[in-house]
Amino acid sequence: MSTAEKPKESLAEALQRVYPELGAVRGAATEPVYLVGGAVRDLLLGRGRADIDVVVEGDAAALASGLGAEVVSHDRFATAKVSLDGHEIDIAAARTESYPHPGSLPVVEPAAQIEADLARRDFTINAMAIPLGAETGLIDPHGGQADLAAGLLRVLHPGSFVDDPTRALRAARYAARFGFELEPETEALLREADLESVSTDRREAELLRLAREGEAPRAFALLAEWGLVDLREGGVQLVADVAAMLESSPWGEFARRDRTLFAAALGPSGGEEELAKARPERPSEAVALAVGHDPVELVLARALGAEWLDRYLGEWRKISLEIDGEALIAAGIPQGPAIGRGLDEALRRKLDGEISGRDQELDVALEVARSGDGVA
Ligand code: ATP
Repeated sequence: MSTAEKPKESLAEALQRVYPELGAVRGAATEPVYLVGGAVRDLLLGRGRADIDVVVEGDAAALASGLGAEVVSHDRFATAKVSLDGHEIDIAAARTESYPHPGSLPVVEPAAQIEADLARRDFTINAMAIPLGAETGLIDPHGGQADLAAGLLRVLHPGSFVDDPTRALRAARYAARFGFELEPETEALLREADLESVSTDRREAELLRLAREGEAPRAFALLAEWGLVDLREGGVQLVADVAAMLESSPWGEFARRDRTLFAAALGPSGGEEELAKARPERPSEAVALAVGHDPVELVLARALGAEWLDRYLGEWRKISLEIDGEALIAAGIPQGPAIGRGLDEALRRKLDGEISGRDQELDVALEVARSGDGVA
């Protein structure tokens, strides 16, 4: 071996380097305990830290209290969340899950061994465990390591998407994130997945998780390609355009990325298409059009071609009057709708550059407020 070549790091060494705090879990455990799920997958991929999920063949709450860490939450014996050296760790007792009918929530039962817990998982790449105590290496009953190397997503059994169709949405998330393909039999099963059998809440929660991915546009495109979800017309392009827009300011800070990408892909239209067609001639018209639309709709309308919204966002929406209702009351206008009419007209003229400064604002507002029908 040349001196330039680094010896390959063992799994135990990688574990110690990436998750040093797991030493404490190993020390506190009186029953076999394992790192599972995404953290194992990402460790094998060399992707650094992930959320930590630990499974114990026994009592999760006992392990949590044995750790002496802050217990953030717990659910009797089955799960606990602790904070250790500033990192949250989810601890769960090993369990099996069965589905009384397609798309239902699972019936959960304790399992004596880790293998049963791994068998309830979504894809082989997520169904591996690393024992924290013993010298044994990776526990990989379903060939996850080989699928990771081959870049394949594979379900553990043919009924997987029938039990839980949200796994099909998860597949798009992982395929986009890692650039993985569906193993052919998994693809055939996935194309049959019936997302209608899952509650709207669960479906939306999983789609929002997908929308949080860096590669969300690709993930939505995959869902459409697999025939799982009907995107709005032009949705693949729109979601890509919106994602690009949200990369930088000012639009990047304006709306929540996940909700906006979700709406870009799936709609329903909240008036953004109509807004995108409008061609306001004056700033006051632009403001009147934009006010009342939420940030998501404004981002979508901009991506659909309403270039004037750049100036709305950057300039016009920030313009306000120097005067307020008190100034009109002090000048003798009685409380009532005339005050609002006066202020609105002053703002309209200010936006359109017809007046400037406090005195002119007050003159216009008073003139309108005093005139009978509110029109100057
Ligand atoms: P991410 O990197 O996106 O957080 P993750 O693999 O950590 O991915 P989680 O949703 O946090 O994903 O779930 C943790 C683990 O629980 C998964 O790795 C998988 O083994 C299992 N899991 C989660 N959801 C399901 C599901 N719907 N069906 C089967 N197993 C699931």
